[in-house]
Amino acid sequence: MSAVSAPVVTRFAPSPTGYLHIGGARTALFNFLFARRHGGRFLIRVEDTDRERSTQAAVDAIFEGLDWLGLATDEPPVFQFARADRHREVVDDLLARGAAYRDYTSAEDTGRLRDEAKAQRRAFVSPWRDRDPAEGDPAQPHVVRFRRPAEGEVVVDDAVQGRVTWNVADLDDLVLLRTAKESEGGAPTYNLAVVADDHDMGVTHVIRGDDHLNNAARQSLIYDALDWPRPTFAHVPLIHGPDGAKLSKRHGAQAVHEYADLGYLPEAMRNYLARLGWSHGDAELFDDAQAIQWFDLEGLGKAASRLDFDKLAHVNAHWLRLADDGRLADLISDTPPTGSEREALMRVIGLIKDRAKTLVELKAQAAFALAPRPLTLDDKARAQITGEAGERIARLRDRLAAFETWTVEALEADLKAFAEAEGVGFGKIGPPVRAALTGGLPSPDIARILVSLGREQSLGRLDDALQHTK
Ligand code: GLU
Repeated sequence: MSAVSAPVVTRFAPSPTGYLHIGGARTALFNFLFARRHGGRFLIRVEDTDRERSTQAAVDAIFEGLDWLGLATDEPPVFQFARADRHREVVDDLLARGAAYRDYTSAEDTGRLRDEAKAQRRAFVSPWRDRDPAEGDPAQPHVVRFRRPAEGEVVVDDAVQGRVTWNVADLDDLVLLRTAKESEGGAPTYNLAVVADDHDMGVTHVIRGDDHLNNAARQSLIYDALDWPRPTFAHVPLIHGPDGAKLSKRHGAQAVHEYADLGYLPEAMRNYLARLGWSHGDAELFDDAQAIQWFDLEGLGKAASRLDFDKLAHVNAHWLRLADDGRLADLISDTPPTGSEREALMRVIGLIKDRAKTLVELKAQAAFALAPRPLTLDDKARAQITGEAGERIARLRDRLAAFETWTVEALEADLKAFAEAEGVGFGKIGPPVRAALTGGLPSPDIARILVSLGREQSLGRLDDALQHTK
């Protein structure tokens, strides 16, 4: 592990233009883990400077997603737009240092000059870059541009991508402040705001998607011009779909809340997302404490990772098995169950949770235990309990009424003994008994059904079913 000098500060900086995307969730998780690992702070900055696309609904959705994932931040969130005055102050500083200049070129002329530069395969340069500022009138509309160094390279030693180099001549002079008139102040632009905020928030490590790698070049030049230390950058490759193509709707769920709806547990999502683009040896299943203990930038991969829904289901099944039965009962109920309903649900969950991959499956598989008596038998269930099968159910009912040890093992053995006594294979007994006990709902094996329901409910259901066999 490379040396990290304390205190570490990381941040997640979502733009509130939509739900919390799975890629954003992973970025937040990496930043969270890295801060925890180093006993540092994990902060959130809402990048709401794009007033047209930012919405309160998106802000709420992002925080709900983070809450659900359990990624608590250490301080109240910073809202970028509210810091516009500070951003303008930083622009003034850059102007004072000669690292920025006012550009009075009209939009029309800028467009023309830009086209010319493009045709000559060079970066656009405003004529005001080299003009005497005294020739301009700050009361007139203008933009403020960053004055990139005249020559040389900008080098970023990225913790994931390695050393990345840009020729500064390939970069145009970034607009820092849009439509500035001295009286109106002007609107700070994205890269300037990010640098000012990261600096003021004390951010030491910027872990984000590699779609921001080029911004790191521009941002580094701004840091340098202000004599501010740059943070360590770690640009993580994006998440792709199972087929290796850029993640899109056709691959399935993209929003974190969709994964919640599909029945994944937050601890499973954390475990799965941590492994998506990061590794620690061959560890696949690990808890939060281990993730925090192990997380490092060296373990981040350079290649895009692929979503693998089978693997996610496998990870989720693991965490379902370990989850508390009472918590699972709450999670699969619309309102927290109480009293006998809660007891019934807890009993059945304890017996079936090792077979479910998601909460949706768990709920479907537990439903038989909550169905009120008398059960509604579907046609198939009804057909299964007539004639000889019905007589057999009657005999089993009496046998079970006298049976003492109501455990899965004892009942399994007794059901076997019953089949032998009847002189039939278990295949003749299982389906009708299951039909009588569950009405055809999804269910585990018969002994588990009996233990889930308890003796009284089991015998009651068999009695109810026997009404249909006569
Ligand atoms: N707001 C940017 C985004 O949502 C992230 C910027 C950053 O992390 O520096 O993509």
